[in-house]
Amino acid sequence: MSRSGQAHVKDKRYKLTGNFHEASAHTPIRDRDQSLKLLGITNPRSMIYLHAYGGEAIFFESLSCGKLLGTRCDRPDCESLETIYLPFRIHCPDCLARCTVTDLTDRARQSTHIHTFMICERSGAFSLLETPIKFINLAIDGVATILMSYLSVGEPAIGVRVLPIFKTRDPTYTITDLSWVTEDTGIQQLPEGFSFGA
Ligand SMILES: [Zn+2]
Repeated sequence: MSRSGQAHVKDKRYKLTGNFHEASAHTPIRDRDQSLKLLGITNPRSMIYLHAYGGEAIFFESLSCGKLLGTRCDRPDCESLETIYLPFRIHCPDCLARCTVTDLTDRARQSTHIHTFMICERSGAFSLLETPIKFINLAIDGVATILMSYLSVGEPAIGVRVLPIFKTRDPTYTITDLSWVTEDTGIQQLPEGFSFGA
C-alpha cells in the first residue's frame, strides 16, 4: 500500500507526496427478491482533500500551543469599533476591514459560562468525537458572539462556569483541539493529550 498523501508548501507552491486517491474493488449490488439480479455496484474510493486555512491558520496553530485567539475591529470610524469576535473572523462583518488578532485565553478562563447546550447521542459522518457529545454554546464576557464547542468533563447546564482545555500533545490542528471542562475539574481528569494551556 502506498503512503498516504502529505502536503507542504515551498517556494509558494504546494508540494505533494504520496497517494491522494485510493480506489478499492467494486462489489455487486444484487436484488435478493429477484434471483440475485444485478442492479449495480458499490464504488469504493477515498480521496484526501487539501483544506487551506488562509487567515485563520494562526487560530488553529495557537490552539496547539494552548492559546485561544479571537479578533477585534480596530477601525476608528466603524460602528463596531472594538467589538470582539470568537469564532475568529478575519474581516469585520460591518466595515470589512481586516480585524486585529487578540489573545482571549485569560478572558475565557475568567468569564466563560454555558449559554445553552445540547447532548447528541449520534454524530454526523466523519465525526471523531465520542458519543454522547455534549455540545455547548459559550458566552465570554466582552465577546460579541457565542462560541460553539464541546464539554469534555462535567455535566452541562445553563450558567455553569467552564474552563478551556487544549490538545497540546499530538494536536489535530482542527477545532476539536479546543474543548471545555467545568471549573471544578482537576488536571488528572483531562482527556488524553489535553492541558489547561499556556
Ligand atoms: Zn469594523
